[in-house]
Amino acid sequence: MDYDLIVVGGGPAGMLGAATAAAGGLKVALLEKNDKPGRKLFITGKGRCNVTNYGDIDDFFRNIITNPKFLYSAFKAFDNRQLMTLLASLGVPTKVERGNRVFPASDKSSDVIKALQKHLHNNHVNIKLHTEVKQILVNSNRVAGVLLKDGTPVTAPRVIIATGGMSYRQTGSTGDGYKIARLLGHTIIEPKPALVPLVTREDWVKDLQGLTLKNVSVKAVAGGKVKAEQFGEMIFTHFGVSGPIILSTSSLIKDYLHPTTSIPVQLAIDLKPALTAEQLDARLLRDFNKYSGKHLKNALDDLLPKKMIDVVLQLAGAEIHKPVNQINKKERGMLVHTLKGIVLTVTGTRPLNEAIVTSGGINVKEINPSTLESKIVKGLYFAGEIIDVDALTGGYNLQIAFSTGYLSGLSAAKT
Ligand SMILES: Cc1cc2nc3c(=O)[nH]c(=O)nc-3n(C[C@H](O)[C@H](O)[C@H](O)COP(=O)(O)OP(=O)(O)OC[C@H]3O[C@@H](n4cnc5c(N)ncnc54)[C@H](O)[C@@H]3O)c2cc1C
Repeated sequence: MDYDLIVVGGGPAGMLGAATAAAGGLKVALLEKNDKPGRKLFITGKGRCNVTNYGDIDDFFRNIITNPKFLYSAFKAFDNRQLMTLLASLGVPTKVERGNRVFPASDKSSDVIKALQKHLHNNHVNIKLHTEVKQILVNSNRVAGVLLKDGTPVTAPRVIIATGGMSYRQTGSTGDGYKIARLLGHTIIEPKPALVPLVTREDWVKDLQGLTLKNVSVKAVAGGKVKAEQFGEMIFTHFGVSGPIILSTSSLIKDYLHPTTSIPVQLAIDLKPALTAEQLDARLLRDFNKYSGKHLKNALDDLLPKKMIDVVLQLAGAEIHKPVNQINKKERGMLVHTLKGIVLTVTGTRPLNEAIVTSGGINVKEINPSTLESKIVKGLYFAGEIIDVDALTGGYNLQIAFSTGYLSGLSAAKT
């Protein structure tokens, strides 16, 4: 055999898996089709890399949307604190920010990549770039190696598939692992976009393109029931809405966004979640007194971003040129109603390629959660986003990649 273990995919899961197995005594090759490892890792957290979350295990389970329990052993084997300790030992100290989000102290994702490369080198992993795997070689239900795209076989009794999901394809995550695993008899839960911007029916969003709203709340309503509620920041785009709370909402309501569902989803944006309707009405009265000589359109500058005023007044059915001292209680009531719940109709999501993560992937029922070994082919392991797991934003997805990468490498080294 050429190696004791071949790891396919040089993302966070593959890099940590390879280094861990090599530290455990295996002769390891890491095969990456790009010219460098960690291309997706480089763009994470807007280049700052939200590497994990400082929350406890319950917090992790609350923030993992799909199959959280499957990850129990992986988090037990390698958790957020261990990741932070490892990075610090490799020269990359971390810091904790709002929402327990952990970043490298330098704010540079490239430092995280360098640290992982150092870990690979320290443990003598053979890194092969520009090397695309096409197929896994199997002999009597046992892994025998891999077949490269150029037809070259590379032999090993163990393989970890860590090829990632199917979004941001330019980073190398093109869904190869799904095809490779399917050929071996694995079932793939249909890959769908998660943490993805939402497309809405209403045309007026175009007028607000680029406008960011902070400290607003968004409720997603389907079949008359509130399915998700998020508070924070969002942005209007030419197609609909995006930004942190919209991305989270998209994951929380993903079952309703699938094209086969007939239940329409509506978003209700509360522009003033800190105020009750009565408090907001009192606030409007105060502003109208202050601007009593002005038209309604020019009396809302203290309350709303300028770009939003026309849209809000139109949605409230208000007369924009009416002097504010002539606005009656009923008209104020309609304005309050709109400010507390601007409705948008969701018609779908942006394409999978624009999703932050892929929901779906290798069916967890076919993977042993304690080792991450395939229940179908001996010596085959899975790690990272290729598995049918996904989480909200906050560093949870990268921790999933690191924890599953670590456990797969550890398990491979034990067999
Ligand atoms: C814009 C953006 C921002 C993000 N920000 C964050 C964040 O701040 N925090 C967070 O927790 N998560 C974030 N994520 C999610 C996170 O990046 C992923 O969940 C994580 O990278 C998954 O790691 P992975 O190792 O499983 O797969 P990937 O990082 O996708 O790596 C897979 C690797 O496998 C290689 N590969 C694929 N097929 C083959 C093949 N056939 N042969 C050889 N190599 C192959 C690919 O080239 C790639 O390098 C972000 C994602 C995006 C798109």
